[in-house]
Amino acid sequence: MADLTRIVILGGGFGGAYLAQALQKHIRQHDLEIIIIDRNNFFVFYPLLVEAGTGSIEPRHCSVPIREFARRSELFMGEIKDLDLESRTVGYRLIGDDHDRSIRFDHLVVALGSVTRILPEHIVSGVREHAFEMKHMSDAVVIRDRAIELLELANATEDQDERRRLLHFIIVGGNVTGIEVVGELENFIRDATVQYHHLRREDCSFTVIEGSPCILGILPQHQHDWAAKKLEARAITLRTGSTVKEVHADHVVTSEDESIPCGTVIWTAGIAPNPVLQELQGLPLNTFNGLDCNEDYTAKGLDRVWGLGDCASIPCTNGKPMPPLAQIAIRQAPQVAANIIASIEGRPTTAGHVAVQGILVPLGRHRGVAKLKGLRLEGFFAWAMWRAIYLIKTPGWRRRLRVLMDWFMNMFCKRDYVQLGMVPASHREFHAPQHTARSQEDVGDLDEGSPD
Ligand SMILES: Cc1cc2nc3c(=O)[nH]c(=O)nc-3n(C[C@H](O)[C@H](O)[C@H](O)COP(=O)(O)OP(=O)(O)OC[C@H]3O[C@@H](n4cnc5c(N)ncnc54)[C@H](O)[C@@H]3O)c2cc1C
Repeated sequence: MADLTRIVILGGGFGGAYLAQALQKHIRQHDLEIIIIDRNNFFVFYPLLVEAGTGSIEPRHCSVPIREFARRSELFMGEIKDLDLESRTVGYRLIGDDHDRSIRFDHLVVALGSVTRILPEHIVSGVREHAFEMKHMSDAVVIRDRAIELLELANATEDQDERRRLLHFIIVGGNVTGIEVVGELENFIRDATVQYHHLRREDCSFTVIEGSPCILGILPQHQHDWAAKKLEARAITLRTGSTVKEVHADHVVTSEDESIPCGTVIWTAGIAPNPVLQELQGLPLNTFNGLDCNEDYTAKGLDRVWGLGDCASIPCTNGKPMPPLAQIAIRQAPQVAANIIASIEGRPTTAGHVAVQGILVPLGRHRGVAKLKGLRLEGFFAWAMWRAIYLIKTPGWRRRLRVLMDWFMNMFCKRDYVQLGMVPASHREFHAPQHTARSQEDVGDLDEGSPD
């Protein structure tokens, strides 16, 4: 048997999994062995994550099993630990195992994605302890569980101010993810109040705090103005030109030193390249700690080491790095595959510029904004287009069918306001109301001590 050329892909998310798929076509012809290392055996179809969090679709339906997606590749479900460029090996530890392993590579692809950008404590304090993120499947489920818990607590309190605090949701960051989160959350929580005897829709409030002068700055002015008007009409407060400098268990402090009581803070103020890159010795990193790549996706100064997706900084035609988006990572993948094959065949590699095709933002309640090439849409049709496009892009017809069924069922059935048991204990302690439980007469015949 001929010696196989081993391609090790670090990260099986949008970039890594689509790259494995693109490379699989060349397995036979070029004697390739493709190995993906990822801490999960699935990747998240992020565009549907917020909907999964708020119960519009089943969380499982926006997770894509990597083995099924890239059938002819091998997957090691493990945590990446270190890199030795001299011996061309990567160190990793399988999940659940207690010792480290290493694997040799001929080509290495770094596709480790990004993390929520959390500024140092002296700039913004308390984010890690008290704020929620919207980056992983578990985040979406935790936020939903948290929201339900707060509805229960608010229903059980007599103190009107405390109830308002518990049901005040602050979203920090008013770009695409933050706006999608607030739009869906408002819908989910206000609609849930009908199930609670002591809650009214007006008890719930939602605030977006955004540092720049407008929300959705990525869209043209008339579109972000339109979106702002629609959200404000739903009693969502948009505080633009303001930032948060402290996050506490029960309030935030803004850059204007205003203290705003709240029960939940969701941090969607930007992303940063995966910090594990800094532990992989010898990788060229730029000032933002992203993998510094050439136009052909090779890591600067390294031989047969490639990068793509959110963690890599690859210059576009205008010299600026390509934006961190799934639509970019997916289209970078075949370009990287073509260049790896070119390098194996001894041909020159080529630059692979990929530009944004469009921006689609769902605002909840069947409304959205869309900018697609020359097309600008606002309202129902933009929202419908968002759903149609992401349904088509959802990998696999069975998953597509499941998502479609979820949406269809939602048109006729009420959502289930049930917890999936994922609120971390740390958040429970911090947010519990103080001495505000209703008396037994108010809540009916409860077991002793049950309001706690
Ligand atoms: C809520 C939300 C909504 C979004 N909506 C859109 C949208 O509508 N359209 C759009 O174009 N983009 C959207 N994005 C952005 C998009 O998801 C990213 O740009 C895309 O996922 C980048 O792909 P990637 O392969 O670089 O990273 P990822 O898809 O995040 O993959 C990285 C992989 O690396 C693995 N990994 C990380 N660290 C380690 C480690 N130490 N060891 C082992 N494995 C590791 C992870 O498990 C993950 O599978 C959204 C993002 C979020 C958070």
